[in-house]
Amino acid sequence: MKKAYLSALALLGSAGTLLAQNVASRAAQSVNDDVTPVILRRSCAANDVLQAQMAADPALARRMEAIEAQTQRFVAARAAAQQRNSGGTTGGTTTGTSSALSGTVTIPVVVHVLYNAAAENISDAQVQSQIAVLNEDFQKLNADANKTYPYSGLAAAAPVRFVLAPGGIIHKFTKTRSWSTNDAVKNSKRGGDDAWDATKYLNLWSCNLGQGLLGYAQFPGGATATDGVVILYSAFGSRAKYPAGTYTTTYDLGRTATHEVGHWMNLRHIWGDDSGACTGSDQVADTPNQGAENYGCPAAGKSSCTNAATGGDMFMNYMDYTDDKCMFMFSQGQATRMTAVFDAGGARSSFAVASGVLRQTAAVAPTTVYPNPGRDAVSLTLPAGTDAARYAVRVYDMSGHEMTQARYNGQGTLQTAALPKGLYYISISDGVNTSRQRFEKE
Ligand SMILES: [Zn+2]
Repeated sequence: MKKAYLSALALLGSAGTLLAQNVASRAAQSVNDDVTPVILRRSCAANDVLQAQMAADPALARRMEAIEAQTQRFVAARAAAQQRNSGGTTGGTTTGTSSALSGTVTIPVVVHVLYNAAAENISDAQVQSQIAVLNEDFQKLNADANKTYPYSGLAAAAPVRFVLAPGGIIHKFTKTRSWSTNDAVKNSKRGGDDAWDATKYLNLWSCNLGQGLLGYAQFPGGATATDGVVILYSAFGSRAKYPAGTYTTTYDLGRTATHEVGHWMNLRHIWGDDSGACTGSDQVADTPNQGAENYGCPAAGKSSCTNAATGGDMFMNYMDYTDDKCMFMFSQGQATRMTAVFDAGGARSSFAVASGVLRQTAAVAPTTVYPNPGRDAVSLTLPAGTDAARYAVRVYDMSGHEMTQARYNGQGTLQTAALPKGLYYISISDGVNTSRQRFEKE
């Protein structure tokens, strides 16, 4: 193609100078398009996007608080169950707070490949190499899982399996040359490609992301239309598995997607996003307190805050910012946290129900509340055989504002003493089904 341009230019002569300049500039541009982006160091915008979304939608913070509460209940129940199993309590009675989730959750994946320059139209083989990496990394089957390092005993698998959905690789030309974190890539009307149903699919977008970013994810609790993960096309897939693909040096083993899908399953950055203050937390108990993010491949023993005594920074964790070849583990605590999103009441429990590893509880309706009208406390009548702790119960006024004065005790009773008199809706959800009951506080 480029040779043909040159012969045409030679024939044009001086009369065609203007046209020649246009052609030449277009040729130069297309050469420029073929240069794979150079990324100086890892940068993920998931937390920045979250902060922006929270500023725009105050209800998001409340939804995420509820998700965090469910997560912490799940983590506590798992820890209690482990203690029972190892503590010699005979009988193994299962209490109501034990997990209902049992087995591997299948996650159908849809990959939207948006391209302007030809190089951005990564092949199906490159896409498939990414799915393979996700399966290896989340199932702890990665080739580098056997390295010896201070935290090797903590490495853990999450009970998930990624499969490409039928027809789930979409190649789409776009006029957009470079994207940002404004989610336009997830919207057909803005030059991108619409998400498939986010309660059934994990949506991944591969594109020329721009801004020096490798990717960003949306945490559980956000809008379904923008749910999923965006990744720079040249950080998508694995050079080790598919050498013929298009890759950016250092970020060519598919770990950007592992990191971002970790966010999608509610993992935070391992240093707690506190810019080195040692005060932030990733809400996981077994990861050491870490100051700031690590880049490149840190030397063994690198430490921060007070973690030197326990093995230093866990910079080999997928949720740090190290190079692809130097990150190779999730911790047990992270795996439990990721599992929580799929359990009953979890933000992504629909995937577990569809996988047949979580029993869909009977529809919550006709749940009733009594007495109604009521005063200090009301009781919920839940479907027989269901566990009261699995329900998220919230009270809203008639204009939809959540009433935080009302508190659910996790055992079938809603405390309403602090609720002003008036008419409300009580929302009762098991994560799959939601029922709404009118309630009068007198
Ligand atoms: Zn991140």
